Amino acid sequence: MHKPQLLTILGATGSIGVSTLDVVARHPDRYRVLALTAHGQLDRLVEQCIVHRPRYAVLAEPARLPELASRLAAAGCGEIETLAGIEALEYVACLPEVDAVMAAIVGAAGMRPTLAAARAGKRILLANKETLVMAGQLFMDAARDGGATLLPIDSEHNAIYQCLPQPFSDAAEQGVRRILLTASGGPFRRFSQAELATVTPAQAVKHPNWSMGRKISVDSASLMNKGLEVIEARWLFDLAPERIKVVVHPQSVIHSMVEYVDGSVLAQLGNPDMRTPIAYGLAWPERIEAGVAPLDLFDIAQLNFEAPDLDRFPCLALAFEALQLGGAAPAVLNAANEVAVDAFLAGELDFVGIARVNAATLRGLARDFDAASLESLTAADAAARQMARSLLRLAV
Ligand code: NDP
Repeated sequence: MHKPQLLTILGATGSIGVSTLDVVARHPDRYRVLALTAHGQLDRLVEQCIVHRPRYAVLAEPARLPELASRLAAAGCGEIETLAGIEALEYVACLPEVDAVMAAIVGAAGMRPTLAAARAGKRILLANKETLVMAGQLFMDAARDGGATLLPIDSEHNAIYQCLPQPFSDAAEQGVRRILLTASGGPFRRFSQAELATVTPAQAVKHPNWSMGRKISVDSASLMNKGLEVIEARWLFDLAPERIKVVVHPQSVIHSMVEYVDGSVLAQLGNPDMRTPIAYGLAWPERIEAGVAPLDLFDIAQLNFEAPDLDRFPCLALAFEALQLGGAAPAVLNAANEVAVDAFLAGELDFVGIARVNAATLRGLARDFDAASLESLTAADAAARQMARSLLRLAV
């Protein structure tokens, strides 16, 4: 019999947060929720509190804190402590009694609490890829110094983790030639340049295989998500960019592969359902049931592979460029992309404009900041947002 693990779920109301709570609810003997955090979806947070009875319910911003407290009291959950603000997010990520932190806030907003969990030596289930994109070296150093355990939740990195030798320390020494990061190609894989210019937000958020939040869905459609994942893999597995190869695989059945020097290629397969990597992260090194249907290979019948088209999807090339530029360049690219995706979702920028804003911001600012401190990275992030917004006003 296990002592239940106590969990903080950052970004509980999002797509990953909801899937995490689904897996947790299947194993009440193994997991207890200590803290849930949300941003705008108060109704959902209250519902989750009623079901999971955490000790803390946290909002990212204080404006609706009184409303949260009174709604919880009215629902018979008055014993739940309500908190708000970035310090509160950091606080619940570091509580001494917390065993594991699911880092599932979207975007740069997730960086500080995830970093706090790393410094506190937590077991971190890392979905928020932006932390690694923005502050890769800093975050990996903090995790090492704090004694944190990192379990990748992004399905590709989770697959790679499963296919690497354990414990993994050095690609060259352990015979890893490269990793093959699979990409579905998104909903516009076959679209021409002219067709891409006219796609709508509604089309972009409709991923063919995965059900995800809006921002990552747009990133998947532009292949920026794959670019962010390349940067994530570079830091997570300490790999030079030339050891990371992106392979378009439209069925999303192989979640990624590791190629060894003896010619072996190990792959992790499964249905495209985030509950698999989430369950893996929760239970590692054990395995638990995740509610995911078994993979039916006869039904799938065929697996296809193709090279990514960097002319139609330049965001992927921008990620390699950012890695080559080094310093705060990935943070600049990430911030520009967050602004551009918001503008696209608000109908203020066309789809192909995302890559234009990203490229112009990256090339304009990449060399102005280093990645040595959180202050410098935060300044790079702010400057990139400002530049991207001014590019939007000029309609790039
Ligand atoms: P969602 O948009 O569905 O959810 C994001 C979560 O973050 C919500 O709980 C949201 O609160 C909260 N949030 C939003 N803005 C802020 C803010 N400023 N401060 C604090 N919290 C905030 O995103 P996903 O679940 O899709 O993605 C979460 C992370 O996981 C991302 O980094 C994504 O790249 C990564 N990921 C997601 C995958 C997926 O399948 N969805 C796959 C692999 C990685 P609220 O909803 O209350 O506004």
